[in-house]
Amino acid sequence: MSVKKSITIILLLLLIISIVYLKQTTSLGSYFTLAYLKNQHASFLEYYQAHKVIFIISYILVYIIITAASLPGAALLTIIGGSIFGLFIGTIMVSFASSIGATCAFLIARWLLRDYFQEKFANKLSAINKGIEKEGAFYLFALRLVPIFPFFLINITMGLTPIKTTTFYLVSQIGMLPGTIAFVNAGKELAKIHSLNSILSPSLLISFAILGVLPLLSKYTISFIRSKKSLSKFPRPKKFDYNLVVIGAGSGGLVASYIAATLKAKVALIEKNKMGGDCLNTGCVPSKSLIRIAKILSDAKRAKEFGLNKLTAEFDFGSIMEQVQNRIASIAPHDSIERYTQLGVNCFQGKAKILSPYLVKINDKTITTKAIVIATGGTPTIPNIPGINYVNPLTSDTIWVIREQPKHLLIIGGGPIGCELSQCFARLGSKVTIIQHDDKLLKREDDDVSYFLLKTLQSEGINVLLNSKPKRFFIDDGKKILEFSQDSLEKTVEFDTLLVATSRHPNLQGLGLEDIGIEFSNDKITPNATLQTNIPSIYICGDAAGSYQFTHFAAHQAWYASVNALLPSFLQFKADYRIIPWCTFTDPEVAHVGLTEQEAQKQNIAYEVTKFQIADLDRAITDVENHGFIKVLTVPSKDRILGVTIIGYHASDVIIEYIQAMKYNIGLDKILKTIHIYPTFSESNKYVAGAWKKKHAPLSLLKFLEKFHKFRRG
Ligand SMILES: Cc1cc2nc3c(=O)[nH]c(=O)nc-3n(C[C@H](O)[C@H](O)[C@H](O)COP(=O)(O)OP(=O)(O)OC[C@H]3O[C@@H](n4cnc5c(N)ncnc54)[C@H](O)[C@@H]3O)c2cc1C
Repeated sequence: MSVKKSITIILLLLLIISIVYLKQTTSLGSYFTLAYLKNQHASFLEYYQAHKVIFIISYILVYIIITAASLPGAALLTIIGGSIFGLFIGTIMVSFASSIGATCAFLIARWLLRDYFQEKFANKLSAINKGIEKEGAFYLFALRLVPIFPFFLINITMGLTPIKTTTFYLVSQIGMLPGTIAFVNAGKELAKIHSLNSILSPSLLISFAILGVLPLLSKYTISFIRSKKSLSKFPRPKKFDYNLVVIGAGSGGLVASYIAATLKAKVALIEKNKMGGDCLNTGCVPSKSLIRIAKILSDAKRAKEFGLNKLTAEFDFGSIMEQVQNRIASIAPHDSIERYTQLGVNCFQGKAKILSPYLVKINDKTITTKAIVIATGGTPTIPNIPGINYVNPLTSDTIWVIREQPKHLLIIGGGPIGCELSQCFARLGSKVTIIQHDDKLLKREDDDVSYFLLKTLQSEGINVLLNSKPKRFFIDDGKKILEFSQDSLEKTVEFDTLLVATSRHPNLQGLGLEDIGIEFSNDKITPNATLQTNIPSIYICGDAAGSYQFTHFAAHQAWYASVNALLPSFLQFKADYRIIPWCTFTDPEVAHVGLTEQEAQKQNIAYEVTKFQIADLDRAITDVENHGFIKVLTVPSKDRILGVTIIGYHASDVIIEYIQAMKYNIGLDKILKTIHIYPTFSESNKYVAGAWKKKHAPLSLLKFLEKFHKFRRG
């Protein structure tokens, strides 16, 4: 905060404190009473009759100054207004003076404090800001109508939010009007009132409160009517076969149907392909199985680091890929039709099409339902690069079927999938090249993290080409070649197998969504905070909704989609996205939760970094996995965690402690005080906390202790 602003705040506070002090300790207080007003009423009236213009201007100015400075006395001034000017003129004058004064107080608070508050509490305020931007006028109106909320506090608080000044002024003037009328009217009947409190009887207060919430109630009623209206064009069955139909049996759909069945709803789950979706069949499970096998080969190559002369691993690529399928087969029962049928879910095999919000078609069968959850996942996007179709691009969907080892695997995309699979294939003995558009791998991560991974992959012989843009594919003399530009130089690379790992798009085609009026933007459906689409009984979750593409995120959203789909429209849960962790399962793993440094900088959030090098950790040394680091972002001078990134062995497990800490507001101090088992990788969390504590050690106390111990030594 600038010195100018700090001085102004101090002066304002001094002014308020002095006035309050004088009011309490001198006879000044007697001027701010109803009794004084009643005594002096005749002389006020006399002065007003003699000097109308001066009286009116002074009255308005005093009113504005008192309100703008957030000083007490506005209620009495309003009563004076009523007693002198009468109900009509008094109301007009007070209404304008109080609204102008309130807006001045609002602007003063905004100028003095808003930047400071928004910067200091940016994290917490972002949700409030969004709410104020959307519904601030309704909240302000409700607060204004219920005069039990001190007006000066409303003025100051609203000044700290992003609400527009014109909105504040207009809503304040309208919202304060009933209260103003009540007080001005009381002034008109001055002789009859005995205290300020008696002006607002409980019944009047209740009426104001009802009036205050009326706009919000009408807003909800309108949205309820709108939602009913959007459904009214579809014939509603008299009876429904199901409470919920879930389309897609991947991570999202399985959880959605499981939750619905647990809540004793009748639920149908429709899958057109394999139960388990991407995660089981082409995503997490095969990739993690291959990563494990590749790790064994990597360890074998590192035999000397373990004191072994040589470890040879003979393998057949095809058998390895079959082993991957065996892992899928072992996990498949968890996601099987048999298991879900036992859990109470009616499973259907076939392609689903939504005929109406109440009707879903599977093959030749049509079923009726009260609500639908779309959990159809996503598909890898093949970029539109000239010639790409001549070189048979593989994607994460199709790479699992190959049984012949690529000699030179070219991967387009240096995101999580590209990085994980590049390392696997390099460890299996393929030559691997990554073409990455950005200037770093894993663009969501901080530069130091991406750089560490880059160096690791390069040390394993992977050719990482950053800042590279594919131009065209062509075949020359039977050889597959990519022409690309890197740092404005034209280059080529030869390969035999191409894996495209760029982006993924939601699976929304063929579902009949356009026909029933589901709204799209850029080929995506953006649900509201409760995961509802524009058709109120249709919800969406997971990769189909297209935000964070992780199994645990799909499952998290699925809970909300399923529960909300079963609840009435006025009782809906907003999905909680405050703490979303993820991991890229390279070796070392890159696990993350909360803010990265680059995000904190972008959002102007102040932070402090504490880093711990895993090279120093005993367990990492015993396991010869002593590489990587933990980076914790905290609120400056506080132990509250803003974000954590770990690049290291088993980072995905080590990070759990931080995820829990962030979720339940546990700071580094408490992590430090927790007993961690020795020797473990999670012990590193204690060391990070220790490093943070050391930075914030009370130096003067330690100096004193040094002197104290010296003294005791004599
Ligand atoms: C290589 C790779 C590795 C990954 N590794 C991880 C990881 O380690 N950790 C992690 O958290 N995430 C990982 N992911 C991401 C994760 O797999 C997805 O985020 C997750 O599977 C999304 O679940 P979902 O339910 O939204 O969609 P999906 O799992 O794709 O399920 C959608 C299902 O809907 C079905 N379907 C589509 N249309 C219809 C229709 N009209 N009728 C009937 N059925 C239909 C599909 O056949 C599919 O089975 C990985 C992804 C890939 C590609």
